[in-house]
Amino acid sequence: MKIAVLPGDGIGPEIVAQAVKVLNALNLDINMTEAPIGGAGYEASGDPLPDATLKLAKESDAVLLGAVGDWKYDKLERHLRPERGLLRIRKELNLFANLRPALLYPELASASTLKPEVVSGLDIMIVRELTGDIYFGQPRGIFKLENGEREGVNTMRYNESEIRRIGRVAFDIAMKRNKKVCSVDKANVLEATELWRQVMIELSAEYPEVELSHMYVDNAAMQLIRAPKQFDVMVTGNIFGDILSDEASMLTGSIGMLPSASLDENNKGMYEPSHGSAPDIAGKDIANPLATILSVAMMLRYTFNDEANAQRVENAVKKALAQGYRTADIWTEGSNKVGCNAMGDAVVAAL
Ligand code: NAD
Repeated sequence: MKIAVLPGDGIGPEIVAQAVKVLNALNLDINMTEAPIGGAGYEASGDPLPDATLKLAKESDAVLLGAVGDWKYDKLERHLRPERGLLRIRKELNLFANLRPALLYPELASASTLKPEVVSGLDIMIVRELTGDIYFGQPRGIFKLENGEREGVNTMRYNESEIRRIGRVAFDIAMKRNKKVCSVDKANVLEATELWRQVMIELSAEYPEVELSHMYVDNAAMQLIRAPKQFDVMVTGNIFGDILSDEASMLTGSIGMLPSASLDENNKGMYEPSHGSAPDIAGKDIANPLATILSVAMMLRYTFNDEANAQRVENAVKKALAQGYRTADIWTEGSNKVGCNAMGDAVVAAL
């Protein structure tokens, strides 16, 4: 297993160090190589995605990323900013499938803004298409009309093969879970998503065991708050997935708990926490490393097909929480407040 380790900026190095500790504790045959990205890439070689980092990522089976970004780079030209490195590496690696689980650990039910009975036991997987849709469709731009008025244009478009490959990811994941897929679209108004629905229905013939349902995106946004436990796997396009996955993340209370995976067609993947580089708490040893550690579990499951070790890592996180260890973002009265490094140690001890 060859893993490119890209800690990035802000709390990135702190949280990635904990995930690396967990990977090492598994005693697997792993080859990890570290490289700079984001602001760290810019500092090292004037580029948020240095050539050597991209080369390493391409040659690796998986990428473990911390986070990128710091306010101090906000004045740089757009193409030199840390976030550009992230967008470029996703595109270069052709990572079209973004997997964002929203899972609530029973110990953290009180951390959600929703009533505990609505969210406890929540376990949703949102599968978002990441390289198409209105974010990439042409034509796009701000144009001048004949009457002198300006017009902003973006184009929502999906072709069959793009829909089919993301659909396949969702159905395959559902087969390993509760065998339910809810496809989210706006087929009543948007032709691009009418085709989306047709292709999902065609694809479902290959997965007779999976129950496919459809939901309009406005209703899905409402149902996620009203009764989120009705969902198992949700699959949707880039823009709807962007919005719904952020909505779903808040069901679970803390962004410090949420991992993510972005996969290509061969299950090569980039694994990272859903949160950013949190420059406000960087270097203080108070960040929550669990989203990054749980991203390692996703790496074992989706790229290395090692379900047993994925579950070992997830169970170790559950055990550390059950033992009362909490970083500041998830701390409640009576639990044991620890720092980033000590939380990593607690997970390793639980392993
Ligand atoms: P953020 O996610 O970094 O932080 C939002 C809030 O959540 C902050 O108060 C932060 O302290 C807290 N937080 C985040 N992760 C935490 C953790 N693991 N433990 C405890 N608390 C945590 O978002 P932001 O402040 O809007 O952005 C900061 C920088 O991160 C910006 O430069 C932004 O561009 C970048 N960013 C990067 C990514 C990425 O690398 N994938 C994603 C989002 C934002």
